[in-house]
Amino acid sequence: MTRLLLLATGGTIAGRAAEATQLNAYTAGVMAGDDLLAALPQLQGFADITVVQIANVDSADLLFDHWRALVGRIRDAFAADPELAGVVITHGTNTLEETAWLLQLLIDDPRPVVLVGAMRPATALSADGPLNLFQGVQVALSPEAHGHGVLVVMDGQIHGAQRVTKVATQGVGAFASPGSGPLGWVDDVGVHLSTASGSRQVPFAELALPEQWPQVAIFYGCVEPDARVLTALLEAGVEGLVFTGTGAGQLSAAERSALQAWQGKRPLMLRANRCGSGPVHGCPEDERLGLLAAGHLNPQKARVLVLLCVVAGFDRAALSARLLKLEPVN
Ligand code: ASP
Repeated sequence: MTRLLLLATGGTIAGRAAEATQLNAYTAGVMAGDDLLAALPQLQGFADITVVQIANVDSADLLFDHWRALVGRIRDAFAADPELAGVVITHGTNTLEETAWLLQLLIDDPRPVVLVGAMRPATALSADGPLNLFQGVQVALSPEAHGHGVLVVMDGQIHGAQRVTKVATQGVGAFASPGSGPLGWVDDVGVHLSTASGSRQVPFAELALPEQWPQVAIFYGCVEPDARVLTALLEAGVEGLVFTGTGAGQLSAAERSALQAWQGKRPLMLRANRCGSGPVHGCPEDERLGLLAAGHLNPQKARVLVLLCVVAGFDRAALSARLLKLEPVN
């Protein structure tokens, strides 16, 4: 039978509440990955699924150590078993997009890696986790998913790791890929995904992840931002900074003067935006301050890219080269 690896990390999909009608008051990360599988007899006969529990946490509490463990498991499993069809990861929805993007940048294998979560705990009326997990397995086993990189399957939609983001606090249709839409969808008829075009760039395929990760902060733009906080971050020695700029990634005069006045080592810096969709373009004036444009990456994904660049020891030119290679891949 086809082999599949299921990596469980917790989240609402593994959450439990006292009552079936409780959709918000519940504890995430309670049920084990084995329990999630046992609750899905429909998967029996589909594949020989090995479950590994990486963590059992609310994804707001996910740690770099969990990321290191996930990456290590996936790389080892693909290297050790040429017959392994793919990997499915159960994950809390809050930071699922960051993990998906991290894996997209690090895992160099055409076999599918699919993340699934749930917006309702496992105990809820109309819990969405079981169908999301079932469909995640369906996608991971499908030839159509090969070569697409890391995928997110939620509410019957199949999203690519670069664009997918959580866009709503409630409701099962909480994920979208702004600007591009989902790559495809999955239902009882099958997996509807066009064939992946060509080979995919995996910029950090060889990168070993450290025990101690760098500090990369996100600074949020708004009316009269407190530039003292920005200076404090620089003084604290952050190795990377992502600006959630207003509009098309714009910084205020106060932020710019704080950057101009800074005499110390400049961290790797990216400008993203707080609009939720649309690109941030580069401009020479910002580049003189050391600020590169994040393109279509949202702030949290821009941070993941900067984190890996710092780990890899990249300078600004190397970060810029990686950014150019990302666009316009979905
Ligand atoms: N707090 C949960 C988490 O991210 C939310 C969810 O999974 O939907 O783990």
